[in-house]
Amino acid sequence: MTDSPQILDALPDGFFTTEARDIRRLFPQPTLIHLHGARAPALFVSILLHGNEYTGLKVMQRLLGRYDGMLPRSLWLFIGNVYAAEQGLRVLPGQTDYNRCWPGTEMAPNAETRLMQRVIDSVTRNELFAAIDIHNNTGTNPLYACMTDPTRRNQHLASLFNHIAVVFHYPKGVSTMAFDGICPAVTLECGKPGDALGIERAVDLVDGLMHLDHFPDRPVPPHDLQLVETQATVRIPDDVSFDFNPSAQADLTFDHGFERRNFTEMKPTEVFAHTRVPRPLVVTNDNGEDITDALIRIENGKVYLNRQMIPAMITLDKTIVRQDCLCYLMTDYSNGGDER
Ligand SMILES: [Zn+2]
Repeated sequence: MTDSPQILDALPDGFFTTEARDIRRLFPQPTLIHLHGARAPALFVSILLHGNEYTGLKVMQRLLGRYDGMLPRSLWLFIGNVYAAEQGLRVLPGQTDYNRCWPGTEMAPNAETRLMQRVIDSVTRNELFAAIDIHNNTGTNPLYACMTDPTRRNQHLASLFNHIAVVFHYPKGVSTMAFDGICPAVTLECGKPGDALGIERAVDLVDGLMHLDHFPDRPVPPHDLQLVETQATVRIPDDVSFDFNPSAQADLTFDHGFERRNFTEMKPTEVFAHTRVPRPLVVTNDNGEDITDALIRIENGKVYLNRQMIPAMITLDKTIVRQDCLCYLMTDYSNGGDER
């Protein structure tokens, strides 16, 4: 592992055809590429911070393939966790997650925190136009952008991708948060890895930013963007068995189509899940405090939310549920953002 990125000023031969699994033949270590374009300030794009989320590579291959010669705008491209990409994994066992170690992280300094600090130092030496971090997720989610600071410019940026966006404040150390106060910055969640629509929309967004002169100053009209804010993370305790088939013999079961609840408002009278144990879920807030009893209740073996909330980023992948979480609970971010 290295604590400095390799820095290049041109794409290596083979860039347009490489697969993520073969990426270390071109980029043996995390690599920052600076491509000079017709206008400044430069756009920053990061891909493969999670090694198995290869949509970002496809996006940049397609986008850069459109330009023979000079780009419309200068570009910094950061190719992150090449080690995990080679293995088809989000992160190697025991390795630091490449999207938790950016400046602002709560992590003790290590090779990866130094690497990301050096990336930030290099790309912020001059002004930046915007920073885009391209990811995938595991569930059947709509395409959406995430931001850690709901400024007008970030909302505009998000609305160029889709009409749904998420404001989040945890986990710390994500790349998007590192650019807050520097330039507009969002994370693009492009559906499952390789999802065709996710690639197409991300290419359109990045290409649009290559040509955009400036972000508008007016507020984003509410019908252009549904902005929701994460309030809580829902996990299933390790000793609670669960199944997404409602007739399965398990401590906690969900109705068919639970995944379709993604990004839809759920009323306190609607059944969230069924259970035969007293504490089938643990709900925590951004500070990691247990707020289970405040947010959910159980009546006659049925689990309900105590207030109207929006489940999001639901995954039915049982491994991910155990490693990460079942879903997040969101609320509408209703004040429309501030003046920044
Ligand atoms: Zn990711």
